[in-house]
Amino acid sequence: MILKERTKSITHRVLESLNFRMDLPVEEKLKYENQVKGWDGEKKFDFYMNQFHQSGLALNDLVLNYRDTVFQIDSLYITNDSIYLYEVKNYAGSYFYKEDSFFTESGYQILNPLRQIDRSVTYLQNVLLRLGYRLPIHPIIVFINPEFTLYSLQPNKHFLFSYQLPKHLSALSNQNFSIKQEHSNLANKLKKLHNEDYRPDNLPTYQLGQLKKGILCSICFSLSHTDTRQNYLCTACGHKETITTAIERSIKEYKLLFPDNLMTTSQIYEWCGKNYSRKRIRMVLKLNYQSHLSRKMTYYSDN
Ligand SMILES: [Zn+2]
Repeated sequence: MILKERTKSITHRVLESLNFRMDLPVEEKLKYENQVKGWDGEKKFDFYMNQFHQSGLALNDLVLNYRDTVFQIDSLYITNDSIYLYEVKNYAGSYFYKEDSFFTESGYQILNPLRQIDRSVTYLQNVLLRLGYRLPIHPIIVFINPEFTLYSLQPNKHFLFSYQLPKHLSALSNQNFSIKQEHSNLANKLKKLHNEDYRPDNLPTYQLGQLKKGILCSICFSLSHTDTRQNYLCTACGHKETITTAIERSIKEYKLLFPDNLMTTSQIYEWCGKNYSRKRIRMVLKLNYQSHLSRKMTYYSDN
């Protein structure tokens, strides 16, 4: 059972928004493309996972803190006797694995996913201890892309290739059990510890003035749309939603990009490309942010 659904990271969402609102520098563009690739790989993993009924509990995209360190886990699967920790890699092409390092065909060394997963295991073990649990952790690196080939002389028990994944998940699914209360408690505690607001400090720098204004389509990120009285209709892909939902999305995106800015009707009016009346914007802001002060959002009416 999935206890925590996968959500895009703040880095992914910020880069996504910037990518469609400004010309990203080459390096940031590359980072964005890697985020998309990673996300596609993780969704593919979820797709396989969902093909099988699992008695254990799955937590996706967990961001956890241990002391001053933040670490991220692609997927965690909790059973009654152990925890599976999955790191999903969407590499494509040929790679070489030698002397505990990964190299591309042209000889470039890339970040070693084994070291990355080792680090996650160590931190997770500490988090578990702090919560009063001792459970073996099985780290698994899933190479999800069928177009990936690894040339290696040393087999590694932590590697799982795309063609092996269905068999692995089916074996897991054959362990029919009802999850112990204490493990279900653990899963819920980990879910609670998920650091949803984590903002890494290597996000690109940008200013409001640089960004294209208007509402991005939630499906194809186009800025062009036509509207009826109540509905927003993307002219690029045909996606339709209510104008209220479209404005709400845009407010969230503004808050994501500028968490420290005060939100005023005028600012959101301009952010939405001056397409909707201030009155309408004010109504949506009031609806969402005046009665929900606990959401840590501040709305200032400047009429
Ligand atoms: Zn669209």
